[in-house]
Amino acid sequence: MARYIFVTGGVVSSLGKGLSSASLAYLLQSRGYKVRLRKLDPYLNVDPGTMSPFQHGEVFVTDDGAETDLDLGHYERFSGVTAKKTDNITTGKIYSDVLRKERKGQYLGKTVQVIPHITDRIKEFINYDTDKEDFVICEIGGIVGDIESLPFVEAIRQFSNDIGKKNALFIHLTLVPYLKASDEIKTKPTQHSVKELRSIGVQPDIIICRSERPIPLEHRKKISLFCNVDIKNVIETVDVKTIYEAPISFFNQKLDIQVLNYFKLKSKKSANLNPWKKITKITLNTKRHVNIAIIGKYVELKDAYKSLDEALTHGGISNNLKVNLVRIDSEKLKVSEIKNKLKNVSGILIPGGFGKRGTEGKIEAIRYARINKIPFLGICYGMQMAIIEFARNQLKIKKATSSEFDKGGVHIIGLMHEWEKSGRKVKGTDKDLGGTMRLGSYDAILKNKSKIRDIYKSTLIKERHRHRYEVDISYKEKFEKKGLIFSGLSPDHKLPEIVELKNHPWFIGVQFHPEFKSRPLNPHPLFSSFIKAAKNHR
Ligand code: GLN
Repeated sequence: MARYIFVTGGVVSSLGKGLSSASLAYLLQSRGYKVRLRKLDPYLNVDPGTMSPFQHGEVFVTDDGAETDLDLGHYERFSGVTAKKTDNITTGKIYSDVLRKERKGQYLGKTVQVIPHITDRIKEFINYDTDKEDFVICEIGGIVGDIESLPFVEAIRQFSNDIGKKNALFIHLTLVPYLKASDEIKTKPTQHSVKELRSIGVQPDIIICRSERPIPLEHRKKISLFCNVDIKNVIETVDVKTIYEAPISFFNQKLDIQVLNYFKLKSKKSANLNPWKKITKITLNTKRHVNIAIIGKYVELKDAYKSLDEALTHGGISNNLKVNLVRIDSEKLKVSEIKNKLKNVSGILIPGGFGKRGTEGKIEAIRYARINKIPFLGICYGMQMAIIEFARNQLKIKKATSSEFDKGGVHIIGLMHEWEKSGRKVKGTDKDLGGTMRLGSYDAILKNKSKIRDIYKSTLIKERHRHRYEVDISYKEKFEKKGLIFSGLSPDHKLPEIVELKNHPWFIGVQFHPEFKSRPLNPHPLFSSFIKAAKNHR
């Protein structure tokens, strides 16, 4: 049977519960155990798919097509375990499941209540498909004391009783602030947060104390005493300079050993931290750098392109250099400023996006990259914009556009069902794409002797998608005649997946999101190649 580790947070949010959970997963794996990570989100949206990146950061997409919390990205990047639809749940989803059942009369006339019906559904989610795991790490979003997180804490309390306390471990992550004015470290917020947690029935077994500076023993003893936790289980986590140091830092603090001790398990192998040490060293010590411009709508919020930022950093690691991200707000980018804003960058990236705002600036920036032979990577929306730019300026289809934001014009980008309606028989895949998202992993076949084939070193690839609109394949020949090659297609050859420009050092657009599959210990080949091209530029 799997052992369960529940991670809650206290005092303030954004303390890095996701990163701590992901680091612990790596350490337990490296000790020889199989781990799955799960996230329970207390908000009411059914999934984060409809939430603005300004509100909630990036939407992370899984292979099996779920739109999930960005913490699942951390989990995948650190543990290497591919997340599934069933690894992220929200209050909204729980309630909609319970209410659907209620409408069908499946509660047999009972009064439907938070306890036991909502908590039972949460427990089902925690327990689902975990037979083959040694550990399941479940992170509860938000902080203890939030109204919304109450049913989740209640559910994990019940769950630990159901499976026996020796099979469930509670980790509570809190902030231990340092007050500059009095030059003091304060343990009181942690004491209060643990008190709050205990008042709803959960006694933490391990407390992870996030702090700016090392916490003296005497303060840790105080936390141990007031919070009723063994001193060995008061673990400090001092701010790290790069996230890749987190597994090393937790290893030094013996977090994995304390977890194994709790469950009375032995380490099957000695933990291997060398890969993290190596990339930490590269990240911190490399002097050389390249500037990469990201031109998007959500650049002001750091987390909005989380996986993308990470994937670019990974590309830097594999080239032994630092990647400086120059974030440019596409809505504010005036066509007249493009030359000036892009003069010091060695690569231009247009990420995924939705809607009309900012499109003209993006299209002009792509033209600039194409003409000036600056390495360019267009992702999803970025590829669609590259198609529009090329159609307008090279194929001379002046009104080329996408039906996503312009109902008039020539729809080189459109919805499958729109084309079908106009009498053309196109069936891209056996899935109905009309008005819905193409989500999750799909195959693409790469053209022989293409740049992309050299990069992936494979003819068949699998990448994750999140879009509604497609490039109209019927234009393929016209584009190719002018030098924009459709070098990746869906297996039935109906959907363009990748385009690349001939006679350009590096100009590639992809309809999918390669950033979701890049990992620090295994950088994605597309990003490694893009950064290499940027390094060679100029
Ligand atoms: N808005 C575009 C579409 O739906 C692109 C989406 C994206 O970039 N993820 O096709």
